[in-house]
Amino acid sequence: MITVTGASKSYGDFAALDDVSLEIPAGTLTALLGPSGSGKSTLLRSIAGLERLDAGTVVIGGRDLTAVAPQKRGIGFVFQHYAAFKHMTVRDNVAFGLSIRKRPKAEIARKVDDLLEIVGLDGFQHRYPAQLSGGQRQRMALARALAVDPEVLLLDEPFGALDAKVRADLRQWLRRLHDEVHVTTVLVTHDQEEALDVADRIAVLNKGRIEQVGDPVSLYDSP
Ligand code: ADP
Ligand code: ADP
Repeated sequence: MITVTGASKSYGDFAALDDVSLEIPAGTLTALLGPSGSGKSTLLRSIAGLERLDAGTVVIGGRDLTAVAPQKRGIGFVFQHYAAFKHMTVRDNVAFGLSIRKRPKAEIARKVDDLLEIVGLDGFQHRYPAQLSGGQRQRMALARALAVDPEVLLLDEPFGALDAKVRADLRQWLRRLHDEVHVTTVLVTHDQEEALDVADRIAVLNKGRIEQVGDPVSLYDSP
């Protein structure tokens, strides 16, 4: 479970987050939905530790991580424009986090093979990022984020740069991945259809505040 309490963040006079409190249950795929500029990315980056809050706390799995550095928060992060290591193969990109943690070679090989199969990239081990499509690259980014068994997976408009058909495919694919891996996932999107399609829960943001939180049915199918 992720618990954000009383989170505020201003840039100059502008309140990007205005006293936001939100509970994200463990194992869910929760979407942060709202128009551009509503504070979604600031909230996600605050959970990641990439922004320093002016006020408020971030607790993950019972640990207060508010002042803990990003790399010690047990999170995986995928951005819209994923920066892969261009000179490394798909395999080495996915293995990166395990290699720097000096995991045994056999364990790394097994894990990378498993992940590449889960994300539908088995057979692409020896390609370079430039030889992948945009959708394949984002799936590689997800495999890389998942390789170190993060407690939490944070996705900031991961499909935003892709065309509509590929986005729709990746959504279905993210849903299946989540059903398999069950890692607590927070997805930032401005696309209502995307949120309705993949999320168990949706938090709607507007002007730095949370307007509504609920499952897709209770938010949008009420009579
Ligand atoms: P969203 O993800 O919903 O589009 P953001 O969280 O990225 O919204 O941004 C919320 C508001 O905060 C926007 O108006 C944006 O211009 C502003 N903002 C975000 N980051 C910065 C920054 N580093 N400096 C100044 N303003 C920022
Ligand atoms: P730095 O001086 O580089 O910001 P710190 O050790 O102070 O490094 O913080 C490590 C990380 O934790 C930073 O990414 C920072 O954004 C985050 N952090 C530290 N204190 C807070 C706080 N009170 N609220 C939110 N985030 C914080």
